[in-house]
Amino acid sequence: MKSKAAVLHEMGLPRPYSQSKPLKIEQVVLEPPGENEVLVKIKAAGLCHSDLSVIDGNRPRPLPMVLGHEAAGEVVLLGKGVDRLRLGDHVVFAFLPSCGYCSYCKKGKAALCENGAKSNSEGDLMGGYKRIKKDGQFYNHHLGVSGFSEYAVASIHSLVKIDKNIPFSVAALFGCAVMTGVGAIVNTAEVKLGDSVLVVGLGGVGLAAIIGAKSAGAKKIIGADINPAKRAMALKMGADEVIDSSLPDALVNLKSKTGGGVDIAMEFAGVIPALEFAFQAIKRGGTTVTAALPHPDARLNISPVDLVGNEKSLKGSYLGSCVPDRDIPNYLALYLAGRLPVEQLISDTITLDDINLGFENLASGKAIRQIVVF
Ligand SMILES: [Zn+2]
Ligand SMILES: [Zn+2]
Repeated sequence: MKSKAAVLHEMGLPRPYSQSKPLKIEQVVLEPPGENEVLVKIKAAGLCHSDLSVIDGNRPRPLPMVLGHEAAGEVVLLGKGVDRLRLGDHVVFAFLPSCGYCSYCKKGKAALCENGAKSNSEGDLMGGYKRIKKDGQFYNHHLGVSGFSEYAVASIHSLVKIDKNIPFSVAALFGCAVMTGVGAIVNTAEVKLGDSVLVVGLGGVGLAAIIGAKSAGAKKIIGADINPAKRAMALKMGADEVIDSSLPDALVNLKSKTGGGVDIAMEFAGVIPALEFAFQAIKRGGTTVTAALPHPDARLNISPVDLVGNEKSLKGSYLGSCVPDRDIPNYLALYLAGRLPVEQLISDTITLDDINLGFENLASGKAIRQIVVF
């Protein structure tokens, strides 16, 4: 069947993206879903910084590729052998499929699924297939999702069934921003009641982490960003105070205000000074978690003596260390109960045709989460 989709053919085109138009809106052809695959009518898809990292070349992926890795929709066709989803089910995509049987999946570490990582890096669906074509050429899938498209063929291992009462535009957020931000807080950092939490980098994921820290019972939440508009958003979403971590006295001030540092520092900015600041901002015995993805060549400068002598921890978090099937329904239940008000992350809804302008607004820091609605 035919589907209108946003396709990336070349990385690293110059900004503004509203002029260079890195994403081409094209009619692609989707092959029917194969075994353990379904066809999803996409209802909503979010614009995330990780899409931007593919567009600007910081996170190289095989091209051409239909981008978009944060989406929600409705199941409209079942492939062979699909028993856990039915026609009409509402689903959220997880941007890393988990096979359920590799050594990591068996240990409850779905974020490290070997088979999921392999298919994502090759631009395949789990199982090794590509289902998007144009003029006889296969296009690549983005992280098993490719949500910037009217329809998507997906592996059932990429999908989580959700409650039909949840608006699709909000549901989409749970596939990346919420899973990554809230998951990093509760699964990776294991924030406890009464902890002080610093969040550096206040984009969609960082703001989701602030909402998650509040929900997890953090005593003091400090947001840090160089952009004053984002700091203002953090205050609205539950931060107790905000700082500009690029100022020369920011670290000294933070340490004096927090009795030597915070218990937990989260870094989502994707630049090395932000991660170094987050590491220096924790107190003795504290934990720094990073979920950002700077360029693969970036290197960190930290003091091993500080790490050892002060028993500090530095942890990476992918997919919020989540098991999507377990965690997305839990986070959605909290949202429905009003305890995870992540709908505030949506700054705009846009059409697929406006997607290049949307990415320009994301790159310039004007937007938090823009959702393409279909
Ligand atoms: Zn994302
Ligand atoms: Zn696995």
